[in-house]
Amino acid sequence: MSENIKYDSIVIGSGPAGLTAAIYHARANIKTVVIAGNQPGGQLTITPMVDNYPGFPNGVGGFKLMMDIQNQVKNFGVEIRQGIVKKISNDKFPISKIFEVELENGEKLETKSVIVTTGAIVKWLNLPKEKELIGKGLSSCATCDGMFFRDKTVAVVGGGDTACEDAAFLAKFTKKVYMIHRREEFRASMAEQKKVLENPKIEIWWNSEVKELNGKEKLTSIKVFNNKTREEKTLEIDGLFVAIGYSPVTKFLEGLVELRESGQIITGKNEKLTTMTSTEGIFAAGDCVNENHRQAIIAAGEGCRAALEAQSWLGRL
Ligand SMILES: Cc1cc2nc3c(=O)[nH]c(=O)nc-3n(C[C@H](O)[C@H](O)[C@H](O)COP(=O)(O)OP(=O)(O)OC[C@H]3O[C@@H](n4cnc5c(N)ncnc54)[C@H](O)[C@@H]3O)c2cc1C
Repeated sequence: MSENIKYDSIVIGSGPAGLTAAIYHARANIKTVVIAGNQPGGQLTITPMVDNYPGFPNGVGGFKLMMDIQNQVKNFGVEIRQGIVKKISNDKFPISKIFEVELENGEKLETKSVIVTTGAIVKWLNLPKEKELIGKGLSSCATCDGMFFRDKTVAVVGGGDTACEDAAFLAKFTKKVYMIHRREEFRASMAEQKKVLENPKIEIWWNSEVKELNGKEKLTSIKVFNNKTREEKTLEIDGLFVAIGYSPVTKFLEGLVELRESGQIITGKNEKLTTMTSTEGIFAAGDCVNENHRQAIIAAGEGCRAALEAQSWLGRL
């Protein structure tokens, strides 16, 4: 393996967590490469407006924010490589504790440490027009976009904890919230269910599935199918929040680091290095770790922490 592809740190992922980690590594003179993955800039790049990232009094486009952070990383001299990581292994160099990171194109890179920031993919409804309507009435994040729907009518799809939490949160300032759930009962905890069932602003449509999204410039209505009565109804709404789950992008880590049943990476076993995984030298941050509160500012903050902790770990090698 050639000498010129040896790194102190490989950051996997180029969302807020990965790019922030790269900034901190660059400033500490840690030889770093960011592997950007198939979504350079991460999930925020698909949202037209981010209103809750500090420093932008009038909000900022998600794509612009991420490209600005990417330029900041590049200005510090960090290499950002296009590519997708297929495998990480440490069996080749167990004594020197060097990891081999293999990309899908067959390239192999060596590094002393790794920061995994591969995020989590939102489960959407897979309906026509869905992609075009994201940010135009369609959202996967009540915390991020709820405030755009003050005094409006919205619907939430899902029946788990997140869906119930989102519905209760939205009911605080919207005119009306419909909950569309394909089963006859919720999967959410009793505490979360109670918040929804006892809220007069929330109307639940059981046994119901969204079949169509309507609207051109923005979402105006949805077609809902009742899987018991086989009836179809059109519901006029201003906003639709999809809360049917996330899939953490961690499959390539199976067998290398401990994962939760849900696929999220387990960190925090080491009290001093709270972002370290069950494998020494591999750190993780952002949505691929967090089961709750998936927010860009949290991912960025954790990316910073992972870089600082990786630096202190590298210092001890
Ligand atoms: C539509 C939408 C709107 C949102 N709006 C807001 C908002 O307004 N405010 C807010 O705070 N949050 C918002 N969020 C949430 C926010 O985007 C996430 O919390 C945040 O992006 C998580 O950052 P991350 O760095 O952990 O992961 P991500 O942003 O998901 O980035 C993951 C990165 O990993 C890369 N990757 C994945 N697999 C591999 C691999 N095998 N090899 C190499 N790279 C890989 C991807 O290409 C990507 O670059 C929104 C999310 C969505 C989907």
